[in-house]
Amino acid sequence: MAILIKDCTAITMGDPFVRRGVSIAIADGKITKISENPQDLAGQRFETIIDGKDKLALPGFVNAHTHLAMVLLRGYSDDRNLQAWLEQDIWPAERKLTEEDVYWAALMGIAEMIRSGTTAFSDMYFFMDAVAQAVKESGMRALLSYGIIAPQPGEKAQRELSITEKFLKDWHNTADGRIRVAVGPHAPYTCCDAVWQDATALAMQYNTLIHTHLQETRTEVNDSFKQYQKSPTERLASLGVFQAKTVVAHGVHLSDWDVKILAERGVGLAHCPTSNLKLGSGIAPVKRYKELGVCVGIGTDGAASNNNLDMLEELRLAALLAKRDDPTALPAAEALQMATRLGAQILGLEGVGYLAEGAQADIILVETQGAHWQPGYNPVSDLVYAAQASDVTTVIIAGQIVMKDREILTFDEERTKEKVRVLSKKYFH
Ligand SMILES: [Zn+2]
Repeated sequence: MAILIKDCTAITMGDPFVRRGVSIAIADGKITKISENPQDLAGQRFETIIDGKDKLALPGFVNAHTHLAMVLLRGYSDDRNLQAWLEQDIWPAERKLTEEDVYWAALMGIAEMIRSGTTAFSDMYFFMDAVAQAVKESGMRALLSYGIIAPQPGEKAQRELSITEKFLKDWHNTADGRIRVAVGPHAPYTCCDAVWQDATALAMQYNTLIHTHLQETRTEVNDSFKQYQKSPTERLASLGVFQAKTVVAHGVHLSDWDVKILAERGVGLAHCPTSNLKLGSGIAPVKRYKELGVCVGIGTDGAASNNNLDMLEELRLAALLAKRDDPTALPAAEALQMATRLGAQILGLEGVGYLAEGAQADIILVETQGAHWQPGYNPVSDLVYAAQASDVTTVIIAGQIVMKDREILTFDEERTKEKVRVLSKKYFH
């Protein structure tokens, strides 16, 4: 379908960063033209024309790390540290999960993401066929991974790896390329050496990524030194994990030596500031990571530790936290790039995260008429420091309009919320 967004202000993430009074033409899932001159588009036919006046157009946000179906456990357990939260509350609740729960929760999470302008996300969870199905039906774009938990070699470890391989075979590069599958060993402390090596081999065989959690807490780092005489980063490097393209979530407690290893091996980092604050894990020193050459994206983590999937809130927090001792540490435009272009880069999503001719048509329109947008000196600054998720009016993913004037078009949002309310009854405590 050919779409024209007429007369908007575009934040391209390229050079020039902001273009005013442009029209954007879309066909076959891609951006075909961005132009200030209406003559450039004369004679072309468009099935849909969207008025971009008083709106910003920008690439949709890329949520670089989440556990989508955890929206089902939003508010289920709060105000605890990571270990107690996981072991005493979350893992026991997750044992009750069914495939049906995960499907409807994933769809509801997708509604929340679309409403706040996210057009691609990286996920790790269980019952991933159900998540993939929700992604396929909703028109979303995603890098999906089954979370492998296998502290010992043996039968369970083999089963986890074969679930991963089947998921790769069934879903990698499906839904017209909107769905990619990564290999997801949950964390260094939940997977043994043999599983790490097998997971790496699998990622390389399918030419895809490893997605994991790394050095989220100080305890994790201390335990690793006790057990392996190495930091988790050193351990994964020595096991050859970083031969595969790798993306790690958190990295709150990395030494400079660890950061240098990640930078050298091109490992991407998904910064999840809200989750790290809420679980009391700490604040990742993003400025230092940037200086040492690590590519950083931004993620919300799951809704049980955030408790929402709002990337605008997340990128604002990332920008503000980085400034706690230096106001120049992470300017608005850089934070915005982490939430879009750089996030796509660390997830290996080509053509995603920027507006240019030939790029994927993953575009959001943001209304700028609210009082909190006035007087409007600098659209980048206003977007990063003042905008609200509810300002997002229209969302296009791979050239398909998935939300128009705040109405989701690809699935029934009200029915989805109702289903989740019914399915959540068994978790009340
Ligand atoms: Zn996580």
